[in-house]
Amino acid sequence: MSTEVPAPIAKLRRGQALSDLEAAAAKLWLAYGGAEADRDGILRRAVKAHWASRTGRDPYWDFLATRDRCVTCGEGYTLENLAICPNCLKTYCYRHKRECPCGHVPLG
Ligand SMILES: [Zn+2]
Ligand SMILES: [Zn+2]
Repeated sequence: MSTEVPAPIAKLRRGQALSDLEAAAAKLWLAYGGAEADRDGILRRAVKAHWASRTGRDPYWDFLATRDRCVTCGEGYTLENLAICPNCLKTYCYRHKRECPCGHVPLG
């Protein structure tokens, strides 16, 4: 597993805005242990602010309900049922969520 910080996290640290997919990847990364590298909570607040800026009752879950495909087999799933690489944002089904070629482990 890569020890490098995923690209969307690096963007957040530079104060850059994220796409919804990047923000979902950042949220997953924090949930899967990245929060330890965010002791001051700056990243968590930035991700929260991203979703708060979107419309709808629960924009994060609304976004996860959109459909995408596994980059390996092409099967379509909702994002909720795909693993997302926190770095390059490729999406993988449960059968193909091994280490991403970019060196990061798909999460979700
Ligand atoms: Zn697949
Ligand atoms: Zn990747």
